[in-house]
Amino acid sequence: MKTVGYAAHSSEANMVPYHFERRELRSNDVAIEILYSGVCHSDLHTVNGDWGPQPYPLVPGHEIVGVVQSVGADVTQYKVGDQVAVGCMVDSCQECDQCHNHEEQYCREGMTGTYGFPDRISGETTQGGYSKHIVVREEFVLRIPEGMDLSKSAPILCAGITTYSPLRTWGVKEGSRVGVIGLGGLGHMAVKLAVAMGADVTVISRSTKKETEAKALGAKGILASTDEEAMTAAANAFDLIIDTVPTAHDINAYTPLLDVDGSLVIVGQVGPTGELNSMPMIFGRRRVAGSLIGGIAETQEVLDFCAKHNIYPECEMIQMDQINEAFKRLEQGEMAHRFVIDMSSLDV
Ligand code: NDP
Ligand code: ZN
Repeated sequence: MKTVGYAAHSSEANMVPYHFERRELRSNDVAIEILYSGVCHSDLHTVNGDWGPQPYPLVPGHEIVGVVQSVGADVTQYKVGDQVAVGCMVDSCQECDQCHNHEEQYCREGMTGTYGFPDRISGETTQGGYSKHIVVREEFVLRIPEGMDLSKSAPILCAGITTYSPLRTWGVKEGSRVGVIGLGGLGHMAVKLAVAMGADVTVISRSTKKETEAKALGAKGILASTDEEAMTAAANAFDLIIDTVPTAHDINAYTPLLDVDGSLVIVGQVGPTGELNSMPMIFGRRRVAGSLIGGIAETQEVLDFCAKHNIYPECEMIQMDQINEAFKRLEQGEMAHRFVIDMSSLDV
């Protein structure tokens, strides 16, 4: 199937229109017409080569929402016209303990990312959501709950699940004290989801500039990481901190904010963090952990959770040809929400 998207051809150049083919449907495949695609900081890291050399040309995008266009002969869960979504993974071995445990992101053979990974059958590089169409095996397609606004749902597929998963894993409930470091795409979803779980949420930001946004999302306020006095006063104040910062930073500045048995969960940056000071860890039985997106079942769960609680990401809609400008703004960290591309502006 012929389609079109925006691709990066190197880490230096702007993304440009790119015509390419989606594979012929395998019997368990679903072909999707993409309507909206969220813009994640991971797309920027990948295109920039922050995580090493990439198989260019590369079409990023792993927050995908659209409509089923056709299905393979053995597909049972979806039919033409269904409102569906695709997140950060499009395949895994389906046979190991992690896949059986619905944690395909930790597949022992390695999950297949939505873009930039070799397809498990053909070896071709997977291409993501900054495009008009995608073909994905049925097991990795999500259902958008009835009545949900498609134009506002895409960021749930990465920003939503990546923050929902640790909130659930660490048992956040009514009254839990949650800190969210970095108020961007992931951070703003962390706030909304934790608030919906009944938590008492504080945003930990580089300044108090985003205070209005933080409060509008339901946080009780902002703690500026640059305000030493405020940081000292906030010692032992949190049960869980979710760290979404996309650049190298000193996590030792944040560990003393955890109460005894509290955990700091790193989801941002995806790279070395520097040396960990063991003192606050030992003198408080504190923990530092990491978390990668979430499994397919849990991704469906967060979509259903958002539908039930009427939670939508804050989306700033852009057209496909505004993507390079959007990347620049993302790089500066000024966003307190998410860019979403309206794919109707692209013609095959
Ligand atoms: P955004 O750019 O939308 O938000 C990041 C926020 O971090 C900014 O808004 C800013 O908030 C803060 N920040 C602190 N220091 C900097 C800096 N030097 N430059 C820019 N921002 C800074 O990113 P996303 O939320 O989309 O992604 C965050 C990170 O999470 C990325 O590294 C991404 O790759 C990673 N990620 C990880 C996943 C996982 O599975 N673990 C899945 C998806 C993404 P403030 O102004 O409040 O300080
Ligand atoms: Zn992402």
